[in-house]
Amino acid sequence: MTEKNLISLLTKLERTQDLSDEEFASLLEADSSAFCAELALRARNTRERYYGKDVYIRGLIEFTNYCRNNCYYCGIRRGNERAQRYRLTYEEILACCKAGYQLGFRTFVLQGGEDSYFTDERLAGLIRAIKKSHPDCAVTLSVGERERDSYEKLFEAGADRWLLRHETADKAHYESLHPAEMSWEHRLKCLRDLKSIGYQVGCGMMVGSPGHTTAHLVKDLRLLQELQPEMVGIGPFIPQQDTPFADQPAGTAELTLRLLSIIRLLLPQVLLPATTALGTIDPQGREKGLLAGANVLMPNLSPVSVRKKYALYDNKICTGEEAAECIRCLSGRVASTGFHIVKGRGDHPGFKRKEGR
Ligand code: SAH
Repeated sequence: MTEKNLISLLTKLERTQDLSDEEFASLLEADSSAFCAELALRARNTRERYYGKDVYIRGLIEFTNYCRNNCYYCGIRRGNERAQRYRLTYEEILACCKAGYQLGFRTFVLQGGEDSYFTDERLAGLIRAIKKSHPDCAVTLSVGERERDSYEKLFEAGADRWLLRHETADKAHYESLHPAEMSWEHRLKCLRDLKSIGYQVGCGMMVGSPGHTTAHLVKDLRLLQELQPEMVGIGPFIPQQDTPFADQPAGTAELTLRLLSIIRLLLPQVLLPATTALGTIDPQGREKGLLAGANVLMPNLSPVSVRKKYALYDNKICTGEEAAECIRCLSGRVASTGFHIVKGRGDHPGFKRKEGR
């Protein structure tokens, strides 16, 4: 396809938030740096139309690396005997929130493996305690698949948002990344349940995981279009040395950036993080992500003593410094892009806060 035709596809995507499968595939495969620059520029203009120069921050608390699942790509999979397991106490988690609050965070993301210690009752107690100390903050959970009644209980306890990446929208591809005890249908059911309960929902894929093709990516984009999530978290797959995928090639920053821009044009108001995995695969990855349409950063608030143990993939950045140093470093990086970090919950513009939440 000529550059002119590719650029007219961008205009069509901006106008209609839709393209045919073949047209999406052309955007994903186009081999032209001029086109990529135009794509990023248009994505940036769209993000600025809704969010100006603002960048939202979320304080990520990686509170447990125990996991009952055995995903082939993930460093905290249950079968990884070399993982040093940890679980933060209530007091430690609340101390992370308190320190984060003082640094300006108004969203806390509790992320972890699927740890059966954290029953609904325990998680609900934790959410209530955070909300009691910080009623002006949003609480996001990212602890995997649960049943609908469990999602309901946690929503009633005050959780506002849920991040659950779909990883890949192709069932056969999903099955090649996960053992047979996990199901693609269940993951999708979870996402639909979360949405209908009233959570602001984040899904997303791991870019360039083993066997990930352009046809799969087109399905990923279609799924985003159908689910209309409030957030989309994407990052490159990065091998982890103690997993079955240790020797698989990593996904690329280039494709991740291209996808960030396409997603921005597809879902203009979406909350789109420039992820730690993107910053790991490319030292300037997060800055490039912001310049390609992303508008969220998720710095780590976990205690430094556990950070290296939450090793989803190798060479993860920001595992050595305290949260205060992290935010100082990030503020400088953000300023270099012409954007700035803002305080505030940073809800999706289409989201109406319910009374008492
Ligand atoms: N148990 C939670 C949190 C999982 S970790 C859940 O299931 O939602 C958060 C995300 O990290 C995963 O959804 C996956 O997309 C990503 N991840 C895991 N291993 C990775 C790897 N090796 N490279 C890149 N991203 C990875």
